[in-house]
Amino acid sequence: MLATHLTRTIPRLNTPGPKARAILERDRAVVSRAYGRVADFVMSHGLGSQVWDVDGNRYLDFMSGIAVNATGHSHPRVVRAIQEQAEKFLHISSDYYHESWVRLSERLNEIAPFAEPSSVFLGNSGTEAVEGAIKLARYHTGRPYFLGFIGGFHGRTLGSLGFTASKITQRRGFLPQREVIHVPYPYEYRPLLAMQPGEVDYGETVVNYIERVVFKNLVAPDEVAAVLVEPIQGEGGYVVPPASFFPRLRELCDRHGILLIVDEVQSGMGRTGKWWAIEHWGVEPDIVCTAKGIASGVPLGGFIARQSIATWPTGAHGNTYGGNPLAMVAALATMEVLENGGIQNAAEQGAYILSRLNEMAARHPSIGDVRGKGLMIGVEFVQDKATRMPNARLRDRIVELAFEHGLLIMGCGVSTMRIIPPLIITRPEVDEGLEIFEYAVTLAEEELMG
Ligand code: PLP
Repeated sequence: MLATHLTRTIPRLNTPGPKARAILERDRAVVSRAYGRVADFVMSHGLGSQVWDVDGNRYLDFMSGIAVNATGHSHPRVVRAIQEQAEKFLHISSDYYHESWVRLSERLNEIAPFAEPSSVFLGNSGTEAVEGAIKLARYHTGRPYFLGFIGGFHGRTLGSLGFTASKITQRRGFLPQREVIHVPYPYEYRPLLAMQPGEVDYGETVVNYIERVVFKNLVAPDEVAAVLVEPIQGEGGYVVPPASFFPRLRELCDRHGILLIVDEVQSGMGRTGKWWAIEHWGVEPDIVCTAKGIASGVPLGGFIARQSIATWPTGAHGNTYGGNPLAMVAALATMEVLENGGIQNAAEQGAYILSRLNEMAARHPSIGDVRGKGLMIGVEFVQDKATRMPNARLRDRIVELAFEHGLLIMGCGVSTMRIIPPLIITRPEVDEGLEIFEYAVTLAEEELMG
């Protein structure tokens, strides 16, 4: 019998179909097993917030290639820009100049979340953006330590510079490898620290812990180059810090000459309803890292630093593909689409989704917490609301059931589901996706909690 809150039975797709199965088999033979896959979705094509597999099954896209397809799939404006550029030139290397590279850097300077003029470095991915940012902080401050956060995710590269022995300018000021000290993220729903009397919120608790414990027992603050932090923790579970965290953290950094680097690889480029998530807290960082949504799927990452800290000399950092022309024009077109309605839509649809999810939470025993900003939304699943014990099994089952019923969605953290559709998603698509989502939640609860 249909649960009372559901209006209809949603048919199960025949997925993966025969064409998909054949490709999956070939994939398993040659593609690295290091990749973890979420579902057996074998893509044929996409349009806006919808995608099709090779057997003709249609899906709503609530994950945007992990927050990459900001303008949806194959936005005509972005496609046209790439096509036009491809006919002119595909690459020249960062040893020369071209206009769209300058133009994109100018645009990023205009939207940088700090008043000072910026220095923009562009590469190919999120991890490269973060590598560059921490190298600059290490160089500029001359300090060896960094602070990071438990649950943080910043990439996966491991030290190619250590093996580079080509020119001294490439090594000077960066080596030996930096040391990272991890502290709890201000995850209010699952606090690792006890709040102390007088603290206004858990954000303040975390900053006080850094000051009172880390700086007293582990590292002197004048040895810390920078704090690297996600304004909203992404892979760690879509965690939104309480109000006082960033203002207090900024104040702590200022007091000790520590740089504040915000990793906006997942949260940036308009996804939260502002260009940068850090703007929700009115705090100006020293360096901001960007990637993912910036170029709608063409690989691009980079960082924007205050000019006053970009003190490294020519030759200190570089790459082959920096300023790649395809990525530049894709990013410029992406920014145009986002500026002309995408960011606004993210704020509006996001507020609507949050209110729908809060209604859902009241109907479902497994939904412990709903949080987010704009179209960066997390739903945390629990075994019961009183103990808040995580329910990863249920979350994973919802991912499977959603896929079987036409919705691409993925988890993060221990038992959280992330909702990150393209910023151009329409209200009917939101409604359709949420209907499938609740259907999957209901089936999973009946199966695993009933
Ligand atoms: N930083 C954050 C916040 C991320 O979410 C990610 C990827 O998920 C990265 C960095 C790494 O980006 P990439 O996979 O492009 O190297």
